[in-house]
This record gives sequence, C-alpha cells and structure tokens, in this order.
Amino acid sequence: MERTERIPEIFASLVFSEDVMRERLPKDVYKSLLNTIATGKEIDASIADVVAGAMKDWAIEHGATHFTHWFQPLTGVTAEKHDAFLTPVGGGKAIMEFSGKELIKGEPDASSFPSGGLRATFEARGYTAWDPASYAFIKDGSLYIPTAFCSYGGEALDTKTPLLRSMDAISTAGLRIIRLFGDTTSERVVTTVGAEQEYFLIDEKDFKARRDLYYCGRTLFGAPAIKGQELEDHYFGAIPTRVAAYMKELDTELWKLGISSKTKHNEAAPAQHELAPIFCTTNIAVDNNLLTMEFMRKLAPKHGMACLLAEKPFEGINGSGKHNNWSLGTDSGKNLLKPGKNPAENKQFLLFLAAVIRAVDEYQDLLRISAATASNDCRLGGCEAPPAIISIFLGEELETIVHSIIDGSHYEKRGAKYMSLGIPSVPAIRRDTTDRNRTSPFAFTGNKFEFRMVGSSQNIALANIVINTAVAEVLSDFADILESADSFESELDALIAKTFRSHSRILFSGNSYSAEWEKEAEARGLSNFKTSPEAYAHFTDDKNIKLFGKFGVMSETEMRSRREIFFENYRKIKNIEARTMLEMTIRDFIPAVSKYVTELSASVNARLTALKGASVAAECDIIEKLSELLTKTYDAYNALLRVENTALSKSTDEEAAFYYKNSVIPKMDALRKCVDAMEVLCSREYWPVPTYGDITFRI
Ligand code: ADP
Ligand code: MG
Repeated sequence: MERTERIPEIFASLVFSEDVMRERLPKDVYKSLLNTIATGKEIDASIADVVAGAMKDWAIEHGATHFTHWFQPLTGVTAEKHDAFLTPVGGGKAIMEFSGKELIKGEPDASSFPSGGLRATFEARGYTAWDPASYAFIKDGSLYIPTAFCSYGGEALDTKTPLLRSMDAISTAGLRIIRLFGDTTSERVVTTVGAEQEYFLIDEKDFKARRDLYYCGRTLFGAPAIKGQELEDHYFGAIPTRVAAYMKELDTELWKLGISSKTKHNEAAPAQHELAPIFCTTNIAVDNNLLTMEFMRKLAPKHGMACLLAEKPFEGINGSGKHNNWSLGTDSGKNLLKPGKNPAENKQFLLFLAAVIRAVDEYQDLLRISAATASNDCRLGGCEAPPAIISIFLGEELETIVHSIIDGSHYEKRGAKYMSLGIPSVPAIRRDTTDRNRTSPFAFTGNKFEFRMVGSSQNIALANIVINTAVAEVLSDFADILESADSFESELDALIAKTFRSHSRILFSGNSYSAEWEKEAEARGLSNFKTSPEAYAHFTDDKNIKLFGKFGVMSETEMRSRREIFFENYRKIKNIEARTMLEMTIRDFIPAVSKYVTELSASVNARLTALKGASVAAECDIIEKLSELLTKTYDAYNALLRVENTALSKSTDEEAAFYYKNSVIPKMDALRKCVDAMEVLCSREYWPVPTYGDITFRI
C-alpha cells in the first residue's frame, strides 16, 4: 500500500506524459508532438524514430521488456499483442530496440476480431496506427501504445477511429460558432467526459460456484433474498473493510496510470459500489474507463472477491450503469455549456444548449442504440435506470428560460438563494437553481450533460461518437445560417427561439419512470425502442448514414458492419445464456431437488415404520409441491431447448436476434420461474448454488 504523502509522486508515474516528453525529447520534437496532441493535426513522421527511442529508454528504466499496440476492436474490450524490445545483433548478443516504424504501425492478425462482413476471414491483415493524442503507458512489464485499428482496405475495425473523427467534427463546427462570437484565439473545441462507473463485488467462492456468473457475468436464476435494498441502508453507507482495501489498491493502480479516480461510495443495491474519475478529453476518458474496468476485474481476486460489471447481475435489486458526463469547451479551458450568472442573456450558451437539444431530439435512435446491449435491456425501463425513451431534463431555471424564449414572454432573473439549517454554528449554504432528477436519461447538471443510459460493462466510445457527431451536425448547420446572416444578432435570436420551439418535445422534467410518461412520450412522437434488436434495426436509417458520412466519422460500409456486429453479439450472448440455463437445470437443479424429494420420501417411510399413524403431512405436502414443480421445470426445460434449437438454425444474425427476443427470452423467463419456485422450497443443504442472500450479504 502507498503512503498518502506519495500520491502526487506516484500519480501518472507510469505514463509517458507531457512532463516526461518535455524532459526526454529534443525541444523541436517535443513541440511538434505537443502541437499534434493539442490541435489534432497530422504528425510529422520524421520525429517518430526520436519519440520511439525516448519511449523505449523510459519504459526500460521502468522495468518494461516489451511493447504492445493497444487497441479497441469491436468486441467491447481492448486487445494487445506484445513484442519484446529485443533484437539479436549476431554473435549471440542482443540489444533493446524500438523504431519509429514499430511505433507508428503494427500489423496484428485481424482475422479473429469481429468485422461484421468488412473482411472475409481469409483476409487476415489488419493495421494498428499510433494515436499520439492518447498517452503511452506501462502495465505488466510492457509499454502500451494506444492505437487505432483498421482493415487492409482502410475501414475502421475499432471504436477509437470513429471517436477521434467525431472529435474533429465537433471541433471544426464548434470553432466556426465561437469565431462568430469573437473568439479568435482558440484552436480547438474539445469534448470532455467523466464516466461514473458502477460495479458489484462478491465473494470469489460464490462467483466460482455459479456457472451463470462465470459464463454470463450475471445470475440467470435466483429467488429474491429476504432482504433487498428496501431499507436503503447500503447507499453511501460505511464501506466494508475488505472492500475499502480493494478500493485503495484500485485507486493507487489507477493513479499510477494517470487516471484521476476521485470519488468512491456504496451504491443503492447491496454489494454495489461506484467509482468516478475527474473528467478529461473524450478519447482519454474512454481509454481510462476501459483500464478502470480492467483493473476492477483484475484486482478483485487478490482480495478474495469477484467484480461484476454486468448491467443486471441480480434480479430484483438495482443493476449497474455508467453515467457519461459530457461537456464542450475550448482548448483554452472555457466551458461552452456553462450558463454563467445570467443564462437568459448568455446567447452563446443558449445557442450551444439549443444545439444539444436539437441533436438529441433528431438522433434519439442513435443515442438509444449506443446504450443497447443484451444485458442493458434487463435494466433500462425497470424503474432503476432511465426508460428506453430519450428525453432531456434541463432543471427549473433553464426550462423556464427556454419556455420564455419559445413564447416570447419576459424572464425574471432570480437571485441566488441561501438556506439556513437553523443551527447558528453551521453556515448558510447556497442552493442550486434546480433540484436533480434521477430518472432522466439525459440531464443537464450545471455545466455538462449526464447521459445515464449507458450500461456498466459497455465501452463508452459509441455514446460519445453519437453525441459528438450529432451536435457537430447541428452546430455546422447553425454556422451556415449565422455566417451568411445579414444581421448576426437578430438571426441568432431567431435561430435560438426556432430551435427551442421545434424541439421542445424532447424536454421533460417529470418522473421518467412513470407509466404516464410512456404514454405522453408516445403522444409527443418520441421513439421508444424497448429492446436492443428493435433499436439496432435503425442504425443504418438514411438519416444516420447521412450524418456519419457527412463528417467522415463512419462510412456506410463501416456502419453496416457495425449493425451486423450488434446483432451478432446479441445473438451470441443470448445463446450462451440459454445454454447455461439448460445445463444448470438438467445437471444441477433437477438432480438436487430430486435427491431432496427422495430423502423426504425415505424419511416419511422411516417414520411411518417407526410409529404407525405418525403425522407426515408436512413432508408429504412438500414432496407433492416439489414433485409438481419438477415436472413443470422439466417441461419448461424442453420448451426452452426446442426454441434454442430453432434459434441456432436461423441463417442471419438479425433474424436470430429477433427470434431470441420474441421467442427464446419468454421461455428463459418461464424456466427461471419454475426453478426459483423450487429454490424457496428446497432444503438449503441440497440447493446446489449460493443464493441471492448468500451472495449479496456475505462480503
Ligand atoms: P453525481 O454522482 O452526482 O452525478 P459525481 O461527482 O459522482 O456526480 O460525478 C460527476 C462526474 O462528472 C465526474 O466524473 C466529473 O469529473 C464529471 N464532470 C464534471 N465536470 C465535467 C465536464 N465539464 N465535462 C465532463 N465531465 C464533467
Ligand atoms: Mg451521476
């Protein structure tokens, strides 16, 4: 464990950061590299050899023997392939080498990564290309070089490439807008992200004792525990010692990698926790979140625990999500979504606000898709996470301003409000202009928007690709209008008012969990894709292909391949879940219950032999109930087996995904119901897996 005074010293100690670059690179090389990082401009290839040499020396000094290009294929997790710095020089000798060529380009065999038809399996070649805007770092004895990953034909096979392209798109469009407001010096508009990460920690023994947990990351069976989260005593509660030790080590490891893990607390469900970092530039925030998830998983066994990142590990208690806090600023550090003291008069802010509102309204479907996964479907709409309907919460003050602009009425600015708690020694505290709304999927929270739909195990890249590109599209349209306006001022006012008016349907400040909202949203014409396959189907709608194509973020081919992969993943996940259920039923649950019933029957016989006329009503009743449930369970098992076999025969992934959603999931639910009913009647001694109560309360 690190001593506290060493924290500033260890922070980013394993990162090839700007400080390290300044120290180790010749001045002109450092300047050129920094310019690329700050402005996103092309790298001067001639400096690559120098940078590579400096990286290698630094890495070796920190114990590294290998380097790896680190990339984000469409699997949702990261990938790496390590090469030693070692180069033989003859005479049985070797030196440590790393060239600019090796830094800039890698050629991993791409054939086993999902490509959604972008590449036939015999075309194995893929390339990784150094992303100078993400810092290299050291982990497990290797120098990690963040890279983009593409096919032989140049199509992006990863999440990083479109993300970087979307950051460029919003920068270009954003710059045009701030120039109109007189900012002549900023060189880039940047999007910032802070991703709050929820997770569960359970005992490793329980994890290993359940096939559903280790095959699927979530339980597929389980009667509710006697106690759930109803007492609300876990949220922000005292952190158990074992968990605290884990969190401390996690923080330390993340800090070394320059990840500014800041907040940690218990979440609402028993065994659930949260970590929030300080926000940073989007591409780095994405990398950092992936590393955070990796370390969460990796460190847990050292503390005898398993970390569950799945969206819905347990039925009946809250699942986990990721809050993607997103904002927009200039490279000089100005937050463009900051309302300031007088938001009603802050036209630049109102214009950016209008842009986000229109973008979210016009691309609801894409935002929904960015949070659509098989396991997030188990969570969205369950009154613990936003529903599948996208809407925006602005808060009372902004909403009032927006409505006064829509109907042309006067807005009276309110002064800051202070609250006294009635205790003289406690200072009065300033009240925010608006309360929070936990139920909204897209909430304005002071100087940023919080997109709360994303699942806990997801890569946040797609969500940010969508937000960046959609907002870029609106900003560039705004810029077209304003740049050619006769009077900037009056055109600006008209544009803000018109945008608010046309897109006010997306604003909602009530309870998004309520049934009334679902009805009202339908009346407003908002989309409501309850399941992932329904959402995926819209990914390649014409307007979406046009959007991504216009800014070069994704080509139509790249989009079609991603759509294919969405369905393919959904199909595979549901297939594994169904087969896990079948296996656990036939090999664990039915034998266990049958054994218990046999034991009960033997006990009935033994007691009747010992004592004629003994009362065996209790045992007989349990035997009868369990026997009936055994039959029902076996029927449900066979019903699931039949549809699962049909699912396997579907020729396309899209067809199969819809079949899983419509026909297999209901049979999975039915089987679970039977097994859960047996669980509550079966002796603890005979039940073959740890129960919900065991798992969620044992840490
Ligand atoms: P809460 O749990 O109340 O939503 P937290 O403080 O846990 O709030 O998390 C807020 C997150 O928002 C943090 O990760 C924080 O760094 C991030 N954040 C704050 N300002 C910005 C910004 N300008 N851009 C992006 N993210 C931001
Ligand atoms: Mg939050």
